[in-house]
Amino acid sequence: MSADLRTDPWLGTRVHVVGSRQGRPNLPTGECPFCPGGLEAPEPYDVRWFPNRWPPMSDGRCEVVLYSPVHGGSLSGLDDASMAALVDLWADRSAVLGARADVATVLVFENHGREVGATIDHPHGQIYAFDHVPERPLARLRSGWSPESSDALVVEESDGWRTFVPAAPVHPVSLQVAPVSRLHDLPGMDAEQRAAFGRALRRARRRVELLFADPVPTMSWINQRPFDGSFPDAWFNAEIVSPWRSNGVPRYIAAAEVATGEYFNPVVPEDLAERLRSVAP
Ligand SMILES: [Zn+2]
Repeated sequence: MSADLRTDPWLGTRVHVVGSRQGRPNLPTGECPFCPGGLEAPEPYDVRWFPNRWPPMSDGRCEVVLYSPVHGGSLSGLDDASMAALVDLWADRSAVLGARADVATVLVFENHGREVGATIDHPHGQIYAFDHVPERPLARLRSGWSPESSDALVVEESDGWRTFVPAAPVHPVSLQVAPVSRLHDLPGMDAEQRAAFGRALRRARRRVELLFADPVPTMSWINQRPFDGSFPDAWFNAEIVSPWRSNGVPRYIAAAEVATGEYFNPVVPEDLAERLRSVAP
């Protein structure tokens, strides 16, 4: 898995020590490597994946996914066909990686914006394939996560997908997107379900962006059933979070929170849900 995956002996926290990544370029100079004709995308494409050139885990476990050939684009700006093609690519890569005997969890995710570590502006996300189920998804799976929500936290429900704010979010902005009827993973969805998921995810991202005047940094990821056969009843969902508590103002995870693992969130989840409902994606 990692060249050097360590576990804290007292907490059980896993830490991938990846000293090699200190050598990677912070921001590429010159031409964008993700634009058509660039280093990572020599041919024209609509959506595209390739192995991560600076993988934090070995054995082909880390991939990059390009959402669009348009440098200034973003997931929230994709049209229906492009969004569906992106979800299909996520599903295909999940199936390929998930079929490996040494893969349990396929995590599809995106860091959007420099503030959350994106080093290239071209619209893209990543995939990590773990040989185990990491701690946070494992806790959700063990508790039998499902998209239960009070009405005050629901932002939207359409096409069989519900978007809602979690009751106890760690981050000031936090949204969940889940199927109303249980689905497990991307490869198991039919074309219509994937397309509906893509539309719901895109609308949720747009809503978060419309809360703020400036481009908001976001982190998004998909929780899908482990591919090792564990938790056969797992419920698929996606999460979107932002560290911003107001326009341009990030909320840092501070000493008391790092010390205790308990969080102090200045944004009331029910108020966030109301604001998210009031914007028009
Ligand atoms: Zn580009």
